[in-house]
Amino acid sequence: MQQPALELLHRVFGHTAFRGEQAQIVQHVIDGGDALVLMPTGGGKSLCYQIPSLLREGCGLVISPLIALMQDQVEAMRQLGVRAAYLNSTLDAAEAAAVERQLLDGELDLLYVAPERLLSPRCLSLIDRARISLFAIDEAHCVSQWGHDFRPEYRELTILHERWPDIPRIALTATADAPTQREIAERLNLEDARRFVSSFDRPNLRYRVVHKDNGTRQLLDFLSAHRGDSGIVYAFSRKRVESIAEQLVAAGIRALPYHAGMDASLRAGNQRRFLQEDGVVMVATIAFGMGIDKPDVRFVAHIDLPKSIEGYYQETGRAGRDGEPAEAWLCYGLGDVVNLRQLIQQGEAGEERKRLELRKLDSLLGFCESTECRRKSLLGWFGEPHPGGCGNCDNCLEPPQSWDGTEAARKALSCVYRTGQRFGAGHVIDVLRGAETEKITRFNHEQLSTFGIGSDLDAKQWSSVFRQLVAGGLLEADIERHGALRLTADSGPVLRGERSLRFRTEAPKAAGGARKSRGGASAAPMIDLDPESLVRFNALREWRSTTAREQNVPAYVIFHDSTLRAIAEHAPDDLDELARIPGIGASKLDRYGEAVLQHLFDQG
Ligand code: ADP
Ligand code: ZN
Repeated sequence: MQQPALELLHRVFGHTAFRGEQAQIVQHVIDGGDALVLMPTGGGKSLCYQIPSLLREGCGLVISPLIALMQDQVEAMRQLGVRAAYLNSTLDAAEAAAVERQLLDGELDLLYVAPERLLSPRCLSLIDRARISLFAIDEAHCVSQWGHDFRPEYRELTILHERWPDIPRIALTATADAPTQREIAERLNLEDARRFVSSFDRPNLRYRVVHKDNGTRQLLDFLSAHRGDSGIVYAFSRKRVESIAEQLVAAGIRALPYHAGMDASLRAGNQRRFLQEDGVVMVATIAFGMGIDKPDVRFVAHIDLPKSIEGYYQETGRAGRDGEPAEAWLCYGLGDVVNLRQLIQQGEAGEERKRLELRKLDSLLGFCESTECRRKSLLGWFGEPHPGGCGNCDNCLEPPQSWDGTEAARKALSCVYRTGQRFGAGHVIDVLRGAETEKITRFNHEQLSTFGIGSDLDAKQWSSVFRQLVAGGLLEADIERHGALRLTADSGPVLRGERSLRFRTEAPKAAGGARKSRGGASAAPMIDLDPESLVRFNALREWRSTTAREQNVPAYVIFHDSTLRAIAEHAPDDLDELARIPGIGASKLDRYGEAVLQHLFDQG
């Protein structure tokens, strides 16, 4: 590794070492090579173009579709003493002209540009006249028509290479799958670029999947372990978002709603608050999140089932970008499956696409019910081998018990059959348990041979059996009939006793049990500090909030949680000691060193 890059990493960014493949990528781009970088969220993609931009002659041009975030990105750079600016539609003509002048006068190290802006004749001619050190194409998967984030302008970025063949290009994305990767290389003329594919593991994320019985109560329980943390709660629909946000607020949580149906300025305001303030919980549909680069999101909770494993991985990936411990929590029930299937089938997509989406949903269900290490299953889905036993997922921390469910499965399937494959799980369970309900009388279901044959299990155990049968493809929910269950081709062998089944045992959950189960080996609190350091940490956080408000910038732009934590732990006595804390470069030391020391001193 060349010395200047490392020196810059210490001095400007305050980091001690490069992570993963950063060093190789940085060197490759400094040397003028093209690169295609696939790295998970939080992997540290930005440094891969920021450091070469600072070390190569001229200004680095960063193309990003995320206009709303450019201001924060530029602010974060300026706080580090880097000469950065952006060009997008939020600037008026005079402001834009000033930035253009700075570029031409060689006064910029980094310039962020929206793609539509870049493609304008004015901007293209500006680039002709300026000295450009590199092009960084961020969120490069936007070039893919099949992704959620397709941007037609990204297709036209081939102009960069045609018009300026000597300027190196680095394309970056956190989207993992092979087809997208191929498409990026093809569409952006990066077939000859060197590829850097990182592991997509996020070791600091703790994965947990729980079964829904009373979703809101379970969510509140989960949130009680995250007081004061920033986090995202994803819900299925706009209506759900509104109602869950209300319930959280009523429970004293700083929750805000976000969905595409809201008034645009209110929505933008909520996003701003989430980014700038500490400890806001955003309740949102998946409309929220692309490019949310807030580093200290401590949890992502899915209160309803996501649509696919890819979606789940991407959404959970927004937690813990700073590398500190964070939680990915998913709560799902059979009702979610019915809702999602309905949504897919009633959608406007073609038949083939619908089938694909249904298959994706099934894979996700399989993931939820699996007893295997979550990390192993997730990475396996993206073609990355993992030995399992990660020690940081529910299945590793509290290995699930299983039981022989062959007999129960047969009873359940035959009862579905006897009742005519027209009812949802609730009624079928009533029949199995021999309940006396109006519905049973109305349909004469007490006459059936399967009536009361399942009184050995309680309703909750049965509902777990049905969920696992659906997840395993042995039953399917008929959407036209409001989730009525019917048999599948795979049900036969089970009914005939040719196939045995094992089911996962539900974790026993007495009142407050969820909280207790976090008490054991898995209890590691998210911020693990001794009491005195914790006092200092909280005081520093308060100082940070005030400072951020005064400057009208996000708190994390001042210092990351990890940096505050290190300061609180080491309690440095002077500027020299403070300078040795990771995350404090020369510019930050200069700006905030004295204030931080004064604050520590005040705390005794
Ligand atoms: P990405 O764009 O890949 O999601 P970022 O570039 O935003 O990731 O980096 C994620 C976090 O990791 C940031 O908080 C950044 O400061 C931190 N980071 C990146 N590289 C390093 C490094 N070499 N050492 C320490 N922290 C780093
Ligand atoms: Zn695991």
